[in-house]
Amino acid sequence: MFEKSVLLEGNEMFANSYFKKHEVQLLELVKNGQNPKALFIGCSDSRVVPDLIIQTNPGDLFVIRNVGNFVAPYKPDEDYHSTAAGIEYAVTELEVSEIIICGHTHCGAIAALYKDMEDKPFVHTKKWLTLGHKAKSLAILALGKDAQKEELRKLTEKFSVISQIENLLTYPYVKKKVDSGELHIHGWMYDIQTGAIEYYDPDKCEFRSLHEASE
Ligand SMILES: [Zn+2]
Repeated sequence: MFEKSVLLEGNEMFANSYFKKHEVQLLELVKNGQNPKALFIGCSDSRVVPDLIIQTNPGDLFVIRNVGNFVAPYKPDEDYHSTAAGIEYAVTELEVSEIIICGHTHCGAIAALYKDMEDKPFVHTKKWLTLGHKAKSLAILALGKDAQKEELRKLTEKFSVISQIENLLTYPYVKKKVDSGELHIHGWMYDIQTGAIEYYDPDKCEFRSLHEASE
């Protein structure tokens, strides 16, 4: 368990070391406002830390993290749409040129798709996880329902990234900017066992490493 003092001591170290060292750049971001180039949509999983895994700095990424790195299809009503509000702000106000949807291996949200949730007291989670149902169906279709659970989960993690990209394209302002070439969408898969990221290549319909692409 974290003690409050441990966390606050961490902040003290940060303020006295990192912040002081990068003070000029950080104060530029205050003076001029933020101008991130990318919207990063990742999982809330504590092991997937965006600025750490791609070595970016404050001001580089506008980040949305949620359970499973899901994107609900566009629905213009007055409900509380946290992820949609972040997408809207990043695309229309900050005018990011890239959106990254980053899935990861051993994702608890994807694993939960294969568990019986009936007796769980979750109020919001069950509905939220339905955003992964399409990916699960496609994985079962591809591998067969008797395939090993681990194989199904791994494929579902990948299909889910593609499915969330499809959902992202239901946002009219996203679709318009993608069609005009002002905005690019990237699907990534972060491996928590190696630290490496693979990206989705829509031409080859597969996830590839940067190393493979340069060969
Ligand atoms: Zn996850």
